[in-house]
Amino acid sequence: MGKVGVAVAAGCAAAACVVAAVMVGRSVRRRRGWKRAVRVLEELEEGCATTVGRLRQVVDAMAVEMHAGLASEGGSKLKMLLTYVHNLPTGNEKGIYYALDLGGTNFGVLRVKLGGQRCIIGHDVDRQPIPQHLMTSSSVELFDFIVTSLRDFVEREENISEPSQGERRELGFTFSFPVKQTSSSSGTLMKWTKGFSIEDMVGGDVSQCLQEALSRKGLDMQVTVLINDTVGTLALGHYHDEDTVAAVTIGTGTNACYLERADAIIKCQGLLTTSAGMVINMEWGNFWSSHLPRTPYDAELDADSPNPNDQGFEKMISGMYLGDIVRRVILRMSQESDVFGPVSSKLHVPFVLRTHMIAAMHEDDSPNLSEVARILKDTLEIPDVPLNVRKLVVKVCDVVTRRAARLAAAGIVGILKKIGRDGNGGITGGKTKGGSRIKMKRTVVAVEGGLYANYTMFREYLNEAMVQILGEDVAPYVILKVTNDGSGIGAALLAASHSASTIMENAQIL
Ligand code: ADP
Ligand code: MG
Repeated sequence: MGKVGVAVAAGCAAAACVVAAVMVGRSVRRRRGWKRAVRVLEELEEGCATTVGRLRQVVDAMAVEMHAGLASEGGSKLKMLLTYVHNLPTGNEKGIYYALDLGGTNFGVLRVKLGGQRCIIGHDVDRQPIPQHLMTSSSVELFDFIVTSLRDFVEREENISEPSQGERRELGFTFSFPVKQTSSSSGTLMKWTKGFSIEDMVGGDVSQCLQEALSRKGLDMQVTVLINDTVGTLALGHYHDEDTVAAVTIGTGTNACYLERADAIIKCQGLLTTSAGMVINMEWGNFWSSHLPRTPYDAELDADSPNPNDQGFEKMISGMYLGDIVRRVILRMSQESDVFGPVSSKLHVPFVLRTHMIAAMHEDDSPNLSEVARILKDTLEIPDVPLNVRKLVVKVCDVVTRRAARLAAAGIVGILKKIGRDGNGGITGGKTKGGSRIKMKRTVVAVEGGLYANYTMFREYLNEAMVQILGEDVAPYVILKVTNDGSGIGAALLAASHSASTIMENAQIL
Protein backbone atom coordinates (compact mmCIF):
# COMPACT_ATOMS: atom_id res chain seq x y z
CA MET A 1 0.00 0.00 0.00
CA GLY A 2 1.41 3.40 -1.00
CA LYS A 3 1.42 6.48 1.17
CA VAL A 4 -1.78 7.75 -0.34
CA GLY A 5 -3.43 4.44 0.28
CA VAL A 6 -2.34 4.47 3.90
CA ALA A 7 -3.56 8.06 4.29
CA VAL A 8 -6.97 7.16 2.81
CA ALA A 9 -7.25 4.10 4.98
CA ALA A 10 -6.32 6.10 8.06
CA GLY A 11 -8.81 8.81 7.08
CA CYS A 12 -11.59 6.22 6.66
CA ALA A 13 -10.80 4.66 10.00
CA ALA A 14 -10.92 8.07 11.70
CA ALA A 15 -14.25 8.90 10.04
CA ALA A 16 -15.65 5.55 11.09
CA CYS A 17 -14.56 6.27 14.65
CA VAL A 18 -16.27 9.66 14.57
CA VAL A 19 -19.49 8.15 13.18
CA ALA A 20 -19.37 5.38 15.74
CA ALA A 21 -18.73 7.88 18.54
CA VAL A 22 -21.64 10.03 17.40
CA MET A 23 -23.91 7.00 17.22
CA VAL A 24 -22.84 5.72 20.63
CA GLY A 25 -23.35 9.24 22.02
CA ARG A 26 -26.83 9.42 20.55
CA SER A 27 -27.79 6.04 21.80
CA VAL A 28 -26.45 6.81 25.28
CA ARG A 29 -28.44 10.06 25.23
CA ARG A 30 -31.51 8.24 23.97
CA ARG A 31 -31.06 5.64 26.67
CA ARG A 32 -30.69 8.40 29.24
CA GLY A 33 -33.78 10.05 27.80
CA TRP A 34 -35.60 6.73 28.05
CA LYS A 35 -34.42 6.24 31.61
CA ARG A 36 -35.67 9.69 32.58
CA ALA A 37 -39.06 9.01 31.00
CA VAL A 38 -39.29 5.71 32.88
CA ARG A 39 -38.34 7.50 36.09
CA VAL A 40 -41.27 9.92 35.58
CA LEU A 41 -43.56 6.90 35.24
CA GLU A 42 -42.12 5.24 38.35
CA GLU A 43 -42.63 8.40 40.38
CA LEU A 44 -46.19 8.60 39.12
CA GLU A 45 -46.78 5.00 40.17
CA GLU A 46 -45.39 5.67 43.63
CA GLY A 47 -47.48 8.83 43.99
CA CYS A 48 -50.67 7.11 42.86
CA ALA A 49 -50.24 4.00 45.01
CA THR A 50 -53.56 2.66 46.26
CA THR A 51 -52.72 -0.36 48.36
CA VAL A 52 -55.69 -2.00 50.03
CA GLY A 53 -54.43 -0.59 53.33
CA ARG A 54 -54.47 2.92 51.90
CA LEU A 55 -57.95 2.38 50.44
CA ARG A 56 -59.25 1.26 53.83
CA GLN A 57 -57.93 4.50 55.31
CA VAL A 58 -59.91 6.37 52.66
CA VAL A 59 -62.98 4.29 53.53
CA ASP A 60 -62.65 5.27 57.19
CA ALA A 61 -62.04 8.92 56.34
CA MET A 62 -65.14 9.00 54.15
CA ALA A 63 -67.29 7.53 56.94
CA VAL A 64 -65.82 9.98 59.49
CA GLU A 65 -66.42 12.98 57.21
CA MET A 66 -69.98 11.82 56.58
CA HIS A 67 -70.57 11.80 60.34
CA ALA A 68 -69.05 15.27 60.65
CA GLY A 69 -71.11 16.67 57.77
CA LEU A 70 -74.29 15.31 59.34
CA ALA A 71 -73.40 16.62 62.78
CA SER A 72 -73.26 20.29 61.92
CA GLU A 73 -73.57 22.69 59.00
CA GLY A 74 -70.05 23.24 57.67
CA GLY A 75 -68.69 20.44 59.88
CA SER A 76 -66.96 18.80 56.93
CA LYS A 77 -65.96 19.42 53.35
CA LEU A 78 -68.79 16.98 52.63
CA LYS A 79 -71.90 19.14 52.59
CA MET A 80 -74.25 16.21 53.25
CA LEU A 81 -77.23 18.18 51.93
CA LEU A 82 -80.75 17.32 53.03
CA THR A 83 -83.07 16.45 50.15
CA TYR A 84 -86.32 16.06 52.13
CA VAL A 85 -86.91 12.98 50.01
CA HIS A 86 -88.11 10.55 52.68
CA ASN A 87 -89.58 7.88 50.46
CA LEU A 88 -88.22 6.29 47.35
CA PRO A 89 -90.44 4.87 44.61
CA THR A 90 -91.77 1.44 45.49
CA GLY A 91 -92.77 0.19 42.06
CA ASN A 92 -96.51 0.62 42.74
CA GLU A 93 -96.72 4.07 41.15
CA LYS A 94 -99.18 4.48 38.28
CA GLY A 95 -99.95 7.16 35.76
CA ILE A 96 -98.19 9.62 33.48
CA TYR A 97 -95.50 11.91 34.85
CA TYR A 98 -93.15 14.41 33.32
CA ALA A 99 -89.55 15.27 34.09
CA LEU A 100 -87.21 18.06 33.24
CA ASP A 101 -83.48 17.34 33.46
CA LEU A 102 -81.14 20.31 33.54
CA GLY A 103 -77.60 19.82 34.66
CA GLY A 104 -75.05 20.28 31.95
CA THR A 105 -74.69 21.09 28.34
CA ASN A 106 -77.88 19.27 27.39
CA PHE A 107 -81.29 19.38 28.91
CA GLY A 108 -83.98 16.78 28.60
CA VAL A 109 -87.75 16.61 28.79
CA LEU A 110 -89.37 13.27 29.50
CA ARG A 111 -92.79 11.71 29.74
CA VAL A 112 -92.98 8.45 31.65
CA LYS A 113 -95.97 6.12 31.83
CA LEU A 114 -96.05 3.90 34.91
CA GLY A 115 -98.16 0.80 35.18
CA GLY A 116 -97.54 -0.30 38.77
CA GLN A 117 -95.71 -3.56 39.64
CA ARG A 118 -92.33 -2.00 38.80
CA CYS A 119 -93.43 -1.54 35.23
CA ILE A 120 -92.45 1.44 33.14
CA ILE A 121 -94.89 1.06 30.26
CA GLY A 122 -93.06 3.58 28.15
CA HIS A 123 -91.05 6.72 28.20
CA ASP A 124 -90.31 9.41 25.65
CA VAL A 125 -87.36 11.71 25.85
CA ASP A 126 -86.33 14.78 23.99
CA ARG A 127 -82.82 16.11 24.63
CA GLN A 128 -81.26 19.19 23.21
CA PRO A 129 -78.30 21.42 23.90
CA ILE A 130 -78.76 24.57 25.93
CA PRO A 131 -77.78 27.46 23.65
CA GLN A 132 -74.50 28.81 24.98
CA HIS A 133 -75.74 32.38 25.39
CA LEU A 134 -78.56 31.29 27.69
CA MET A 135 -76.08 29.88 30.22
CA THR A 136 -75.05 33.41 31.10
CA SER A 137 -78.26 35.30 30.37
CA SER A 138 -81.12 35.85 32.84
CA SER A 139 -83.23 33.32 34.71
CA VAL A 140 -86.33 34.48 32.78
CA GLU A 141 -84.66 33.87 29.41
CA LEU A 142 -83.28 30.48 30.44
CA PHE A 143 -86.54 29.22 31.93
CA ASP A 144 -88.70 30.62 29.14
CA PHE A 145 -86.58 28.68 26.68
CA ILE A 146 -86.82 25.48 28.71
CA VAL A 147 -90.54 25.76 29.30
CA THR A 148 -91.22 26.52 25.63
CA SER A 149 -89.44 23.27 24.74
CA LEU A 150 -91.39 21.47 27.44
CA ARG A 151 -94.70 22.90 26.20
CA ASP A 152 -93.94 21.84 22.60
CA PHE A 153 -93.03 18.37 23.86
CA VAL A 154 -96.21 18.04 25.93
CA GLU A 155 -98.39 19.16 23.01
CA ARG A 156 -96.65 16.75 20.66
CA GLU A 157 -96.88 13.84 23.06
CA GLU A 158 -100.49 14.43 24.00
CA ASN A 159 -101.45 14.70 20.34
CA ILE A 160 -100.07 11.29 19.53
CA SER A 161 -101.04 9.47 22.71
CA GLU A 162 -103.62 9.97 25.41
CA PRO A 163 -103.61 13.19 27.46
CA SER A 164 -102.52 12.95 31.07
CA GLN A 165 -105.34 11.84 33.29
CA GLY A 166 -105.99 13.55 36.58
CA GLU A 167 -106.36 17.22 37.30
CA ARG A 168 -102.91 18.50 36.76
CA ARG A 169 -99.76 17.25 35.09
CA GLU A 170 -96.96 16.60 37.58
CA LEU A 171 -93.31 17.25 36.95
CA GLY A 172 -90.08 16.12 38.55
CA PHE A 173 -87.30 18.66 38.09
CA THR A 174 -83.70 17.48 38.09
CA PHE A 175 -81.50 20.47 38.60
CA SER A 176 -77.91 19.30 39.02
CA PHE A 177 -76.30 22.32 40.62
CA PRO A 178 -75.70 22.83 44.35
CA VAL A 179 -79.08 23.59 45.92
CA LYS A 180 -80.05 24.14 49.53
CA GLN A 181 -83.36 22.35 49.69
CA THR A 182 -86.17 23.86 51.71
CA SER A 183 -88.52 20.96 50.95
CA SER A 184 -88.58 18.04 48.52
CA SER A 185 -90.01 20.39 45.90
CA SER A 186 -88.16 23.64 46.56
CA GLY A 187 -84.70 24.95 47.22
CA THR A 188 -82.38 27.86 46.65
CA LEU A 189 -79.46 27.89 44.25
CA MET A 190 -76.17 28.11 46.17
CA LYS A 191 -73.90 28.66 43.18
CA TRP A 192 -73.68 27.91 39.50
CA THR A 193 -71.14 25.40 38.13
CA LYS A 194 -70.32 23.82 34.73
CA GLY A 195 -70.15 27.09 32.81
CA PHE A 196 -73.51 28.51 33.90
CA SER A 197 -73.54 31.96 35.43
CA ILE A 198 -76.86 33.74 35.86
CA GLU A 199 -76.33 36.02 38.80
CA ASP A 200 -79.97 37.01 39.30
CA MET A 201 -80.78 33.42 40.21
CA VAL A 202 -78.18 32.72 42.90
CA GLY A 203 -79.95 32.58 46.26
CA GLY A 204 -83.32 32.36 44.50
CA ASP A 205 -85.88 29.57 44.63
CA VAL A 206 -85.28 27.23 41.69
CA SER A 207 -88.77 25.69 41.55
CA GLN A 208 -90.36 29.11 41.77
CA CYS A 209 -88.39 30.23 38.69
CA LEU A 210 -89.70 27.20 36.85
CA GLN A 211 -93.25 27.54 38.16
CA GLU A 212 -93.37 31.21 37.11
CA ALA A 213 -92.14 30.32 33.61
CA LEU A 214 -94.83 27.61 33.42
CA SER A 215 -97.47 30.25 34.23
CA ARG A 216 -96.02 32.73 31.73
CA LYS A 217 -96.20 30.10 29.00
CA GLY A 218 -99.65 28.90 30.03
CA LEU A 219 -98.58 25.33 30.81
CA ASP A 220 -100.62 23.76 33.58
CA MET A 221 -98.06 21.73 35.44
CA GLN A 222 -97.03 21.28 39.07
CA VAL A 223 -93.37 20.96 40.15
CA THR A 224 -93.76 18.01 42.51
CA VAL A 225 -90.09 17.35 43.30
CA LEU A 226 -86.80 19.17 42.89
CA ILE A 227 -83.78 16.86 42.97
CA ASN A 228 -80.27 16.44 41.63
CA ASP A 229 -79.20 13.73 39.19
CA THR A 230 -77.77 11.33 41.77
CA VAL A 231 -81.06 11.31 43.70
CA GLY A 232 -82.78 10.45 40.40
CA THR A 233 -80.40 7.53 39.96
CA LEU A 234 -81.18 6.30 43.47
CA ALA A 235 -84.92 6.58 42.76
CA LEU A 236 -84.63 4.57 39.54
CA GLY A 237 -82.39 2.00 41.21
CA HIS A 238 -84.83 1.62 44.11
CA TYR A 239 -87.81 1.39 41.78
CA HIS A 240 -86.30 -1.70 40.15
CA ASP A 241 -84.64 -3.15 43.23
CA GLU A 242 -85.69 -2.23 46.75
CA ASP A 243 -82.32 -3.23 48.21
CA THR A 244 -80.82 -0.15 46.55
CA VAL A 245 -79.52 2.09 49.33
CA ALA A 246 -77.13 4.46 47.57
CA ALA A 247 -76.35 5.92 44.17
CA VAL A 248 -73.15 7.16 42.64
CA THR A 249 -72.63 9.22 39.51
CA ILE A 250 -69.27 8.98 37.77
CA GLY A 251 -69.39 10.97 34.56
CA THR A 252 -68.02 14.41 33.78
CA GLY A 253 -68.21 15.05 37.53
CA THR A 254 -68.89 12.73 40.43
CA ASN A 255 -71.38 12.68 43.30
CA ALA A 256 -73.21 10.26 45.58
CA CYS A 257 -76.34 10.09 47.69
CA TYR A 258 -77.78 7.50 50.04
CA LEU A 259 -80.62 6.76 52.38
CA GLU A 260 -79.80 7.86 55.94
CA ARG A 261 -81.65 7.21 59.20
CA ALA A 262 -83.40 10.30 60.55
CA ASP A 263 -81.74 10.03 63.97
CA ALA A 264 -78.29 10.08 62.36
CA ILE A 265 -78.94 13.49 60.79
CA ILE A 266 -77.95 15.35 63.90
CA LYS A 267 -77.83 18.80 62.31
CA CYS A 268 -81.57 18.86 61.84
CA GLN A 269 -82.87 16.97 64.82
CA GLY A 270 -86.47 17.88 65.49
CA LEU A 271 -87.22 18.50 61.84
CA LEU A 272 -87.45 14.83 61.09
CA THR A 273 -89.42 13.32 63.91
CA THR A 274 -92.13 12.02 61.63
CA SER A 275 -90.01 10.09 59.17
CA ALA A 276 -87.70 7.13 59.36
CA GLY A 277 -85.04 8.53 57.09
CA MET A 278 -84.03 10.81 54.29
CA VAL A 279 -81.92 10.77 51.16
CA ILE A 280 -78.73 12.75 51.74
CA ASN A 281 -76.99 14.38 48.79
CA MET A 282 -73.36 14.06 49.81
CA GLU A 283 -71.78 16.31 47.16
CA TRP A 284 -68.88 13.86 47.56
CA GLY A 285 -66.82 15.47 44.82
CA ASN A 286 -65.64 17.87 47.52
CA PHE A 287 -64.44 15.08 49.85
CA TRP A 288 -60.87 15.46 51.04
CA SER A 289 -58.54 13.43 53.22
CA SER A 290 -54.79 13.39 53.78
CA HIS A 291 -54.96 9.68 52.94
CA LEU A 292 -55.76 10.41 49.30
CA PRO A 293 -52.67 9.73 47.18
CA ARG A 294 -51.94 13.15 45.72
CA THR A 295 -49.21 13.84 43.17
CA PRO A 296 -47.66 17.12 41.99
CA TYR A 297 -49.82 16.77 38.86
CA ASP A 298 -52.97 16.93 41.01
CA ALA A 299 -51.66 19.95 42.86
CA GLU A 300 -50.91 21.74 39.57
CA LEU A 301 -54.27 20.82 38.07
CA ASP A 302 -55.99 22.16 41.18
CA ALA A 303 -53.97 25.38 41.23
CA ASP A 304 -54.76 26.02 37.55
CA SER A 305 -58.48 25.33 38.01
CA PRO A 306 -61.14 28.02 38.52
CA ASN A 307 -61.99 26.42 41.90
CA PRO A 308 -58.72 25.67 43.75
CA ASN A 309 -59.07 23.64 46.98
CA ASP A 310 -62.56 22.64 45.91
CA GLN A 311 -63.80 19.31 44.55
CA GLY A 312 -60.54 17.53 45.43
CA PHE A 313 -62.00 14.02 45.19
CA GLU A 314 -63.72 14.85 41.91
CA LYS A 315 -60.46 16.12 40.44
CA MET A 316 -58.83 12.70 41.05
CA ILE A 317 -61.76 10.62 39.86
CA SER A 318 -64.05 12.08 37.25
CA GLY A 319 -64.09 12.21 33.49
CA MET A 320 -63.58 15.94 33.34
CA TYR A 321 -60.06 15.61 34.78
CA LEU A 322 -58.45 12.21 34.06
CA GLY A 323 -57.36 13.19 30.56
CA ASP A 324 -55.77 16.35 31.85
CA ILE A 325 -53.77 14.52 34.52
CA VAL A 326 -52.40 12.23 31.79
CA ARG A 327 -51.56 15.26 29.64
CA ARG A 328 -49.57 16.76 32.49
CA VAL A 329 -47.56 13.54 32.96
CA ILE A 330 -46.76 13.30 29.24
CA LEU A 331 -45.72 16.95 29.29
CA ARG A 332 -43.32 16.26 32.17
CA MET A 333 -41.90 13.22 30.35
CA SER A 334 -41.46 15.27 27.22
CA GLN A 335 -39.71 18.07 29.11
CA GLU A 336 -37.39 15.73 30.99
CA SER A 337 -36.45 13.44 28.13
CA ASP A 338 -36.39 13.41 24.37
CA VAL A 339 -38.53 10.31 23.91
CA PHE A 340 -41.31 12.39 22.32
CA GLY A 341 -38.94 14.58 20.29
CA PRO A 342 -39.24 18.34 20.76
CA VAL A 343 -41.92 19.37 23.30
CA SER A 344 -45.19 19.82 21.41
CA SER A 345 -46.96 23.10 22.13
CA LYS A 346 -50.23 21.13 22.30
CA LEU A 347 -49.02 19.53 25.51
CA HIS A 348 -49.41 22.92 27.16
CA VAL A 349 -53.08 23.24 26.21
CA PRO A 350 -55.34 22.42 29.21
CA PHE A 351 -57.94 19.70 28.62
CA VAL A 352 -56.81 19.05 25.04
CA LEU A 353 -56.50 15.36 25.92
CA ARG A 354 -60.01 14.20 26.80
CA THR A 355 -60.83 11.24 29.00
CA HIS A 356 -62.46 9.24 26.20
CA MET A 357 -59.12 9.53 24.39
CA ILE A 358 -57.16 8.10 27.29
CA ALA A 359 -59.72 5.28 27.41
CA ALA A 360 -59.13 4.64 23.70
CA MET A 361 -55.34 4.57 24.22
CA HIS A 362 -55.61 2.43 27.35
CA GLU A 363 -57.83 -0.10 25.61
CA ASP A 364 -55.89 -0.13 22.32
CA ASP A 365 -55.30 -3.83 21.66
CA SER A 366 -53.63 -3.51 18.27
CA PRO A 367 -50.14 -5.07 18.18
CA ASN A 368 -48.41 -1.79 17.31
CA LEU A 369 -50.69 0.45 19.37
CA SER A 370 -51.90 2.29 16.30
CA GLU A 371 -54.68 4.12 18.19
CA VAL A 372 -52.14 5.46 20.67
CA ALA A 373 -49.99 6.65 17.76
CA ARG A 374 -53.01 8.27 16.11
CA ILE A 375 -54.12 10.18 19.22
CA LEU A 376 -50.56 11.31 20.00
CA LYS A 377 -50.24 12.56 16.43
CA ASP A 378 -53.71 14.05 15.85
CA THR A 379 -54.43 15.49 19.28
CA LEU A 380 -51.02 16.23 20.76
CA GLU A 381 -49.19 16.74 17.44
CA ILE A 382 -46.45 14.29 18.43
CA PRO A 383 -45.68 12.16 15.34
CA ASP A 384 -43.56 9.03 14.96
CA VAL A 385 -43.58 7.89 18.57
CA PRO A 386 -41.70 4.56 18.86
CA LEU A 387 -43.59 1.53 20.12
CA ASN A 388 -41.80 1.35 23.48
CA VAL A 389 -42.77 4.98 24.17
CA ARG A 390 -46.38 4.32 23.16
CA LYS A 391 -46.35 1.53 25.73
CA LEU A 392 -45.18 4.06 28.30
CA VAL A 393 -48.16 6.28 27.44
CA VAL A 394 -50.56 3.37 27.89
CA LYS A 395 -49.02 2.72 31.29
CA VAL A 396 -49.57 6.36 32.30
CA CYS A 397 -53.27 6.06 31.33
CA ASP A 398 -53.43 2.85 33.33
CA VAL A 399 -51.94 4.34 36.50
CA VAL A 400 -54.19 7.42 36.46
CA THR A 401 -57.37 5.46 35.69
CA ARG A 402 -56.61 2.70 38.17
CA ARG A 403 -56.13 5.21 40.99
CA ALA A 404 -59.39 6.97 40.07
CA ALA A 405 -61.41 3.75 39.97
CA ARG A 406 -59.97 2.41 43.22
CA LEU A 407 -60.61 5.67 45.06
CA ALA A 408 -64.20 5.68 43.81
CA ALA A 409 -64.54 2.12 45.16
CA ALA A 410 -63.18 3.26 48.54
CA GLY A 411 -65.73 6.09 48.54
CA ILE A 412 -68.56 3.64 47.92
CA VAL A 413 -67.39 1.34 50.70
CA GLY A 414 -67.15 4.44 52.93
CA ILE A 415 -70.88 5.00 52.44
CA LEU A 416 -71.59 1.33 53.17
CA LYS A 417 -69.49 1.55 56.31
CA LYS A 418 -71.43 4.62 57.48
CA ILE A 419 -74.73 2.75 57.16
CA GLY A 420 -73.43 -0.55 58.50
CA ARG A 421 -73.49 -2.43 55.23
CA ASP A 422 -69.77 -3.14 54.83
CA GLY A 423 -69.82 -6.39 56.77
CA ASN A 424 -67.93 -4.98 59.73
CA GLY A 425 -70.56 -4.71 62.42
CA GLY A 426 -73.04 -1.93 62.05
CA ILE A 427 -76.73 -2.64 62.24
CA THR A 428 -77.12 -5.81 60.26
CA GLY A 429 -73.72 -7.20 59.44
CA GLY A 430 -70.86 -8.58 61.42
CA LYS A 431 -68.82 -11.71 61.71
CA THR A 432 -69.99 -14.14 64.31
CA LYS A 433 -67.58 -14.51 67.21
CA GLY A 434 -64.68 -16.76 66.36
CA GLY A 435 -66.18 -17.84 63.08
CA SER A 436 -66.15 -16.62 59.54
CA ARG A 437 -69.89 -16.89 58.92
CA ILE A 438 -71.29 -13.53 58.04
CA LYS A 439 -74.87 -12.44 58.14
CA MET A 440 -75.09 -9.77 55.48
CA LYS A 441 -78.02 -8.06 53.87
CA ARG A 442 -78.03 -7.80 50.10
CA THR A 443 -77.00 -4.24 49.31
CA VAL A 444 -77.35 -2.57 45.94
CA VAL A 445 -75.65 0.63 44.81
CA ALA A 446 -76.97 2.23 41.62
CA VAL A 447 -74.20 3.60 39.44
CA GLU A 448 -74.57 5.93 36.52
CA GLY A 449 -72.35 8.09 34.35
CA GLY A 450 -70.37 7.91 31.16
CA LEU A 451 -67.04 7.12 32.78
CA TYR A 452 -68.27 4.00 34.61
CA ALA A 453 -70.61 2.91 31.83
CA ASN A 454 -68.25 3.34 28.87
CA TYR A 455 -64.71 2.90 30.19
CA THR A 456 -64.35 -0.84 30.68
CA MET A 457 -60.95 -0.73 32.39
CA PHE A 458 -62.21 1.89 34.86
CA ARG A 459 -65.21 -0.29 35.68
CA GLU A 460 -63.10 -3.42 36.08
CA TYR A 461 -60.61 -1.69 38.38
CA LEU A 462 -63.45 -0.30 40.48
CA ASN A 463 -65.14 -3.68 40.78
CA GLU A 464 -61.84 -5.39 41.62
CA ALA A 465 -61.11 -2.86 44.36
CA MET A 466 -64.59 -3.36 45.87
CA VAL A 467 -63.79 -7.07 46.33
CA GLN A 468 -60.33 -6.32 47.74
CA ILE A 469 -61.64 -3.82 50.28
CA LEU A 470 -64.75 -5.72 51.32
CA GLY A 471 -63.14 -9.16 51.24
CA GLU A 472 -64.30 -12.27 49.42
CA ASP A 473 -66.97 -13.11 52.03
CA VAL A 474 -68.75 -9.77 52.01
CA ALA A 475 -68.27 -8.63 48.42
CA PRO A 476 -70.91 -10.97 46.89
CA TYR A 477 -73.59 -9.21 48.95
CA VAL A 478 -72.74 -5.80 47.51
CA ILE A 479 -74.00 -5.30 43.99
CA LEU A 480 -73.22 -2.34 41.77
CA LYS A 481 -75.99 -1.91 39.21
CA VAL A 482 -75.74 0.40 36.23
CA THR A 483 -78.88 2.46 35.65
CA ASN A 484 -79.67 4.46 32.56
CA ASP A 485 -81.13 7.93 32.57
CA GLY A 486 -81.87 7.97 36.28
CA SER A 487 -81.51 11.73 36.18
CA GLY A 488 -84.54 11.89 33.90
CA ILE A 489 -86.66 8.83 34.64
CA GLY A 490 -85.84 8.98 38.36
CA ALA A 491 -87.28 12.51 38.56
CA ALA A 492 -90.53 11.32 36.97
CA LEU A 493 -90.63 8.36 39.40
CA LEU A 494 -90.18 10.69 42.37
CA ALA A 495 -92.84 13.01 40.98
CA ALA A 496 -95.08 9.94 40.98
CA SER A 497 -94.19 8.78 44.48
CA HIS A 498 -94.59 12.33 45.82
CA SER A 499 -97.78 13.02 43.90
CA ALA A 500 -100.84 13.75 45.98
CA SER A 501 -102.75 10.95 44.26
CA THR A 502 -100.10 8.30 45.05
CA ILE A 503 -99.88 9.44 48.66
CA MET A 504 -103.67 9.21 49.00
CA GLU A 505 -103.75 5.76 47.42
CA ASN A 506 -101.02 4.52 49.75
CA ALA A 507 -102.91 5.94 52.73
CA GLN A 508 -105.97 3.95 51.66
CA ILE A 509 -103.90 0.77 51.37
CA LEU A 510 -102.53 1.35 54.87
P1 ADP B 1 -72.59 14.03 32.46
O1 ADP B 1 -71.70 13.59 33.57
O2 ADP B 1 -72.10 15.28 31.79
O3 ADP B 1 -74.02 14.08 32.85
P2 ADP B 1 -72.19 11.44 31.30
O4 ADP B 1 -72.64 10.73 32.52
O5 ADP B 1 -72.67 10.90 30.00
O6 ADP B 1 -72.52 12.96 31.30
O7 ADP B 1 -70.61 11.38 31.32
C1 ADP B 1 -69.88 11.96 30.31
C2 ADP B 1 -68.42 11.82 30.67
O8 ADP B 1 -68.06 10.44 30.71
C3 ADP B 1 -67.52 12.46 29.65
O9 ADP B 1 -67.23 13.77 30.04
C4 ADP B 1 -66.28 11.60 29.71
O10 ADP B 1 -65.42 12.10 30.69
C5 ADP B 1 -66.76 10.27 30.20
N1 ADP B 1 -66.85 9.34 29.08
C6 ADP B 1 -67.80 9.23 28.15
N2 ADP B 1 -67.51 8.24 27.28
C7 ADP B 1 -66.35 7.72 27.68
C8 ADP B 1 -65.52 6.67 27.20
N3 ADP B 1 -65.82 5.95 26.14
N4 ADP B 1 -64.42 6.41 27.89
C9 ADP B 1 -64.09 7.12 28.97
N5 ADP B 1 -64.81 8.13 29.45
C10 ADP B 1 -65.93 8.42 28.83
MG1 MG C 1 -75.36 13.09 33.99
